[in-house]
Amino acid sequence: MSAVSDDLIDLVRTFTEKEIIPIAGDFDAADEYPAGLVEKMKELGLFGITVPEPFGGLGLDYSTYARIVEELAYGWMSVSGFLNTHFMGCFLINSFGTEEQRERFLPRMATGEIRAAYSLSEPDAGSDVAAIKTRAVRDGDEFVVNGTKMWLTNGLHADLVVMLVKTEDTDPPHRGMSVLLVEKSGGELEYEGITVSRKIKKLGYKGIETVELHLADQRVPAANLLGGEAGLGMGFRYMMQAVELGRINISARAVGVARRAFEESIRYAQERQAFGKAIAGHQAIQFKLAEMGTKVHAARLLMQDAARKKDSGERCDLEAGMAKLFASEACWEVCQEALRIHGGNGYAAEYPIERLYRDAPLMIVGEGTNEIQKMVIGRRLLEEYHV
Ligand SMILES: Cc1cc2nc3c(=O)[nH]c(=O)nc-3n(C[C@H](O)[C@H](O)[C@H](O)COP(=O)(O)OP(=O)(O)OC[C@H]3O[C@@H](n4cnc5c(N)ncnc54)[C@H](O)[C@@H]3O)c2cc1C
Repeated sequence: MSAVSDDLIDLVRTFTEKEIIPIAGDFDAADEYPAGLVEKMKELGLFGITVPEPFGGLGLDYSTYARIVEELAYGWMSVSGFLNTHFMGCFLINSFGTEEQRERFLPRMATGEIRAAYSLSEPDAGSDVAAIKTRAVRDGDEFVVNGTKMWLTNGLHADLVVMLVKTEDTDPPHRGMSVLLVEKSGGELEYEGITVSRKIKKLGYKGIETVELHLADQRVPAANLLGGEAGLGMGFRYMMQAVELGRINISARAVGVARRAFEESIRYAQERQAFGKAIAGHQAIQFKLAEMGTKVHAARLLMQDAARKKDSGERCDLEAGMAKLFASEACWEVCQEALRIHGGNGYAAEYPIERLYRDAPLMIVGEGTNEIQKMVIGRRLLEEYHV
């Protein structure tokens, strides 16, 4: 994996200014999928930035990936969502896939020709991943899959769903889970035994679909078992490593959204007059800005630290958990203060704060709630500081 010059980040920043910021408000209000923008992201090569060069990607490291996610989320958080599940899929196939699976999927994923969704959650199992019920039963050269998966971001437009399923009843249950690379037709509500059974209406995170997926006797080739026969029973472990990357994505997008709320606020505070001076001249506002700027900076440092650890190839659940926990809570606090600084205009849809305020809470829940992050962090700290 290689690092990159600031030129690429500048390019993404310009893309955000020209292509994302001008359309974000309208597409958010209409909750409309920005198909044209996704095509432009493909042209820019954004879907392949972490895919190794031999498979047609740029082979960039996760530190660069996190910086790119921050820039995109600054414009509109949903755009960082188009990349997140896709990169978790690329990571899984590149890290654990067989050579044949890497060659079959990664080149088309690098160009965005096929885009990936990532599926752990079910209607009755979110935090408690080991409680999933979707089952894949071997039948010759195929698996027959039955069950309902929930909360699939990009689940309608994705052509490939990287899915955790039960392949065996074991004690503990997570040892009987495997990952299937479930192919479907992106954009279609029905494909063979797969139905996009529900598009979930959300508080924010508009324009990007989050769906429920029902599988009825769906046949998946055994060749699509991640890692081949060696991957049987390894699914839970594989998916948890991808979740580390997802948590780095969430912390990077939280930094992007929080920086936008902060920068909108510091600009507004210098323009808006009250009691004969710019509101930035009032100490109460300066204190808010001081706390907001400090939180954005601290969140970015934690995000970069977690991304560096992931780049090193070492386990980074502690660092990714800390970055996700801190950055998402900081982002939510910064957005609330941004709303206060904007007064009535913070509540008006014609200012971006209203959208940032609705987008921010997802990051507290997504990729494992912050209560779950605290459990992971606590457990790891007790391992490290064991007396
Ligand atoms: C917009 C959106 C997009 C999503 N995209 C995806 C996706 O692409 N793929 C995917 O697989 N999932 C996705 N998710 C699902 C997300 O990961 C789950 O919502 C999340 O993991 C929480 O699970 P849950 O909603 O079932 O809550 P629950 O697990 O039911 O938790 C409810 C509450 O109980 C708390 N809780 C649970 N267990 C404990 C415990 N042991 N100790 C303390 N507190 C606990 C939780 O923190 C939470 O406050 C998405 C969710 C949203 C909202």
